[in-house]
Amino acid sequence: MNNCLYVVVPCYNEEEVLRETAKRLKEKFNALIKEGKIDKNSRITFVNDGSKDKTWEIIKELHKEDKIFSGVNLSRNRGHQNALLAGLMTVKDLADMVISMDADLQDDINAVDGMVEKYMQGADIVYGVRNKRETDTFFKRFTAEGYYKVMKKMGVDLVFNHADYRLMSKRALAGLEEFKEVNLFLRGIVPQIGYKTDIETYERGERFAGESKYPLKKMLSFAWQGITSFSVKPMDVVLGLGGFISGASFIAMIAMLICFLCGISIKSWMVVLGSIWLSCGLVMFSIGIVGAYIGKIYMESKERPRFIIEEFINK
Ligand code: UDP
Ligand code: MG
Repeated sequence: MNNCLYVVVPCYNEEEVLRETAKRLKEKFNALIKEGKIDKNSRITFVNDGSKDKTWEIIKELHKEDKIFSGVNLSRNRGHQNALLAGLMTVKDLADMVISMDADLQDDINAVDGMVEKYMQGADIVYGVRNKRETDTFFKRFTAEGYYKVMKKMGVDLVFNHADYRLMSKRALAGLEEFKEVNLFLRGIVPQIGYKTDIETYERGERFAGESKYPLKKMLSFAWQGITSFSVKPMDVVLGLGGFISGASFIAMIAMLICFLCGISIKSWMVVLGSIWLSCGLVMFSIGIVGAYIGKIYMESKERPRFIIEEFINK
């Protein structure tokens, strides 16, 4: 089995950590090359995501010093997911396997060994899964774990406690390329590719320098992106609620009509209230129906592959 490894590292304003990250990754690569686990043409590819600091200059210097480092420079800041995809798509034909990781080394690089091993045992995708969240604040842990649960309820296939630290084989990347969507939520897309997968657990550390490029606002919008890119369930909720409200108020109105016909007195405000609920329910129900169609159009517009063939036996 060929074993040329590329590690893709998206970087946004990472001048404080880049040299240290490069040093540690290089040590890891040299050890793996020496052990014969990866090819000597393996590379560490930094993707500069439109940084405003010296990140790209440092990447160029690193490349000049040692060809083990390569670099991709994006024309402007496109966000972590796009930067990562840009890196993956740039190196996919050069590598046999690609590992994506963050520049701040929060993803333990010692998990690389295990990932490569699992790739050698035949896995096409190896998910890095963090085993505990002790370094996170209570708030982050609570929201993150709750989020995975909500996503599961919405029918989105996610790997619990896995972010974007993963290994993908060449053919898994070819599969990823088939997903043409612009609203990227990689951790939702990758499980849809299929093939044999495995997980490698690791302990996630703290960012060793610099600050997070993911403030709360960005994190929330990313979480929302995940839901809206994969699930049309919110539409179903509107539809269901509209159906329930209009159904219930319709029954109430019928009951009032029967009372009226039987000569039982009913208050006029009851009729007014009943008809308000009924019309609101009907409006909601109609929006839900329109939403269901829009949901279909939305999913169609993503032009996702309907299948990926693993093997064709024909002789
Ligand atoms: N990043 C990026 N573009 C952005 C924001 C972040 O390429 O617009 C990179 C960043 O350099 C880092 C990774 O994405 O390598 C994860 O960011 P960060 O560590 O700040 O996120 P956190 O770990 O705090 O969630
Ligand atoms: Mg980080």
